[in-house]
Amino acid sequence: MDIAAVEDRHSSGVYTKRGVTIVRGEGALLWDEQGKEYIDCVGGQGAANLGHANAAVAAAMATQAQRLISCPEIFHNDRRSELMERLTMLAGLPRVFLCNSGTEAVEAAFKFSRVATGRTEIVAAMRGFHGRTMGALSATWNKAYREPFMPLVPGFRHVPYNNLGALDQAVTADTSAVILEIVQGEGGVFPGTREYLQGAQTVCRRSGALLIIDEVQTAFGRTGKMFAFQHYDLQPDLVCVAKSIAGGLPMGALLIGEAVGVLPGHIHGSTFGGNPLACATSLAALDEIERLELPRRAAENGEYFLANLRQIDTPVVREVRGLGLLVGIELRRKAAPFLQVLMEDGVLALTAGMNVIRFLPPLVITREQLDRVTGSVAHVLAQPVV
Ligand code: PMP
Repeated sequence: MDIAAVEDRHSSGVYTKRGVTIVRGEGALLWDEQGKEYIDCVGGQGAANLGHANAAVAAAMATQAQRLISCPEIFHNDRRSELMERLTMLAGLPRVFLCNSGTEAVEAAFKFSRVATGRTEIVAAMRGFHGRTMGALSATWNKAYREPFMPLVPGFRHVPYNNLGALDQAVTADTSAVILEIVQGEGGVFPGTREYLQGAQTVCRRSGALLIIDEVQTAFGRTGKMFAFQHYDLQPDLVCVAKSIAGGLPMGALLIGEAVGVLPGHIHGSTFGGNPLACATSLAALDEIERLELPRRAAENGEYFLANLRQIDTPVVREVRGLGLLVGIELRRKAAPFLQVLMEDGVLALTAGMNVIRFLPPLVITREQLDRVTGSVAHVLAQPVV
């Protein structure tokens, strides 16, 4: 059977394929159907912070699957109760809405902001990415994602990132919330400055707008802290998470601060939200993230990796930047062709925008594996024409 041909025949077509069939993983390694090994710097697009085939997560998933998978939130549940306490403690926000993806966490944030403030407008950042459903898409900047779906939800405005003056001017008495990433991931790996992010919080407090931090790509150790907002002593009103929350199992969550409070019944909901399988798996994943000290490892190995990438001497590179193990190399050329050569060399990576190669490795990646990635990148960027 030609796996790729069958998939291509039946797939919707919305994904650009890389021409490789991945069938197995372990830690930071993946294997294709021919048995070729790759170092995984795609990391499930951020869902695989724990690495592939984590035994504790797999065991928790199997145990809970045999006990109870479905239990809507009209009932209380042991695993959900435990997870809610754990997540809210970790983030320092008192409540949580559980859902199934990043875009759903963002949708919930917008709906809750409107209900809590009685206002309708949202201010988002240029280059920001917040998801693909109609509300989240309205906050997403990339025109290629937005334009086929006009008209989008009204009341969204975009301002330049890391520009506090522009944000201050855009926020008015009609602004229900400001939504920002701590590091703009999809938009090109642009870390926010401390001054900007703290200033954004001050602008929100002054105007009565809520501060939504989208941590879908940055949470659970990725940037060197459990949550990236913890680098800057922020107290966001709403925090969107997903990706690595449940060891790669689909799950999202919206953490909810005091300013939002308790929401009225019936205004939102989700059939799968807070299901015991996802909750039990998430508890195991959080245990593993803590046991393996992944935030600390991401901080140390991220610095190491960034420093080594900065040593690569080639005119093709404009800038190397990142936070923890969310790392981007901005090129003076298109990034996509380099990914293909990297893949042939045994390294899987992502783009972020047109010109940036992005690395989102599992946080269990070793220094030796990072060295192999650096070597491969140096080799590939030295090629005369890609
Ligand atoms: N927000 C951010 C910051 C993201 O990076 C992503 C996904 N890349 C999303 C939201 C959407 O998440 P999902 O694909 O799970 O809907």
